[in-house]
Amino acid sequence: MKECNQCGKCCIKYGDGGLSASASEIETWESAHPEIYRYVRDGKIWMNPDTGQPLERCPWLRKLPNQSKYICDIYEVRPADCKYYPTTIDEMIRDECEMLEARDRIKPKLAQKKLNKIMAASRPAFE
Ligand code: SF4
Ligand code: SF4
Repeated sequence: MKECNQCGKCCIKYGDGGLSASASEIETWESAHPEIYRYVRDGKIWMNPDTGQPLERCPWLRKLPNQSKYICDIYEVRPADCKYYPTTIDEMIRDECEMLEARDRIKPKLAQKKLNKIMAASRPAFE
């Protein structure tokens, strides 16, 4: 199991309406981050502020110039849905997450433990 290399695949895959935010996250954005709240409509993210329709890509995902890396422009206040990713080895295999190594597929339980350790500051452990 490697550290995240910021390949951006997860944000590209889920940032087009595949994410959710809690009521308290939305309340925080409404009061403290109106620039983020603009992209919420009827409790859903990320929506086009002009049309109210889901965006095709997360508005906060930014590719670094001359690199194949991406960063999140709202990293400190991103939704828990984003903070929790990746959760399981199956999910990582399905999404072709680049943290995975060949040996993680052979020993998925051990790989899950390693993943939980890497993610300990962001989320609870998953089985
Ligand atoms: S809010 Fe940040 S972490 Fe979440 S999908 Fe967008 S760029 Fe990725
Ligand atoms: S797909 Fe995996 S390696 Fe790529 S940015 Fe997401 S968590 Fe990091």
